[in-house]
Amino acid sequence: MDFHNKKVLIRVDFNVPLDDNFNITDDTRMRAAIPTIKKVLSEGGAVVLMSHLGRPQKKRKEDGSIDVERFTLKHLVTHLSELLGGVPVHFCPETVGEKAEKMVAELPYGEVLLLENTRFNSGESKGDEALAEAMSKLGDIYLNDAFGTAHRAHSSTAVVAKFFPKEKKGFGMLMDAEIKNANKVVQTPERPLTAITGGAKVSDKILLLEKLIDFVDHLIIGGGMAYTFFKAQGGKVGNSLVEEDKLDLALSLLQKAKDKGVQIHLPEDSLIADAFSNDANTRYCSNMEIPDGWMGLDIGKKAIKDFREVILSSKTILWNGPMGVFEMPAFAEGTKAIALTVAEATKNGAFSLIGGGDSVAAINQLGLADEVSYVSTGGGAMLKFLEGEELPGIAAIKE
Ligand code: AMP
Repeated sequence: MDFHNKKVLIRVDFNVPLDDNFNITDDTRMRAAIPTIKKVLSEGGAVVLMSHLGRPQKKRKEDGSIDVERFTLKHLVTHLSELLGGVPVHFCPETVGEKAEKMVAELPYGEVLLLENTRFNSGESKGDEALAEAMSKLGDIYLNDAFGTAHRAHSSTAVVAKFFPKEKKGFGMLMDAEIKNANKVVQTPERPLTAITGGAKVSDKILLLEKLIDFVDHLIIGGGMAYTFFKAQGGKVGNSLVEEDKLDLALSLLQKAKDKGVQIHLPEDSLIADAFSNDANTRYCSNMEIPDGWMGLDIGKKAIKDFREVILSSKTILWNGPMGVFEMPAFAEGTKAIALTVAEATKNGAFSLIGGGDSVAAINQLGLADEVSYVSTGGGAMLKFLEGEELPGIAAIKE
């Protein structure tokens, strides 16, 4: 695309966490959008940015009005300018309308205008067309670089695209990278392909597990999810997390995997605890014989060894979900060992994608983000992508 002398409207995901004094506590999402912004600026364009921040419609003030002070994007202006090496960043206290249009018209090329929180407009989350049309007046070109919200059909993430002709809309570089890396797993994986799944509940990951069984060679199931599979097979899992209504589903997933020739790897043992607490008494135990009053909160030593072998023999690795309650140091060992093994496999030449949610937090916490091939910025969006769903934010650009 030719950005020279163009006003380029970019949907970014600047939904960053702020502390009580409105300092940004993690600017990962902002940094992820910088390459696209810099590219447009360096090629002679001006950048108009829109993003949401938090849930201002849900968390209104006592009198029912929007809590502008808490959710304004103005808090991000100074840091954004710093990240862009001092490029001027102007702020418009409105998302759309006359004032915004005037500021866009007056915006010098080489500079940035940040619009107010898209979710201050009640139509945004409903995909309101009039709002999307008003947004479309704020740029000659529309780029979507907000992978983290690509699974939502909101005015700024999807609907706005319909007001731009095909040659005047496209993906930003973050979006491009997310899609290309996910496709290295989904479409063109080098085999063996191993998916490592974990996290709390089977019910959150049913679609993912079903989809994975269609195309992976090995499926590792750790975390709280695993106990539903053990119970379904007649194991004693004590007080571990179990979804009683998903026992049949667990058995049918195991059968489906068998039919398809997919090898399922469940943890042979667990680190069990007598309370859901970092200070609980703990010991290792087979997952078929967990006593009442005890619960599995991390995978055990044998499981770590088994999973390690599978991961190191893989050419493509996808990881979604921790192996245990890694937020408590006493139960972080399994997740840590898997993270280190994924890094080791990557060093040996495997492609590794950390696909969303708490496994991303775990990789970042361990400082291993640079030692895996790609860490996705989009939790829910990546999950939906891997589940095979067409994301509205992607579809809208292609239409
Ligand atoms: P998810 O968002 O589905 O990836 O789940 C992540 C959550 O699963 C984390 O907060 C973990 O603490 C939790 N989790 C992982 N393993 C277990 C377990 N064995 N028992 C209870 N919760 C777990």
